[in-house]
Amino acid sequence: MRAIKKIKCPICGKEAEWEGNPFRPFCSERCSLIDLGKWADGKYSVEAEEAKEEPEEGQDD
Ligand SMILES: [Zn+2]
Repeated sequence: MRAIKKIKCPICGKEAEWEGNPFRPFCSERCSLIDLGKWADGKYSVEAEEAKEEPEEGQDD
């Protein structure tokens, strides 16, 4: 008996086969392209982290 390795697509969450899947870790070409697009858009960049610095309204001086 041979177990078929399955992965969960990080984009849509669908289960996809690992072996013979040229788009892994995604389920399909579409999802791999979506992921690629995210990177290209810079959505994964550090910008989200940097925007968090809010000036404190304290009485420091
Ligand atoms: Zn997918």
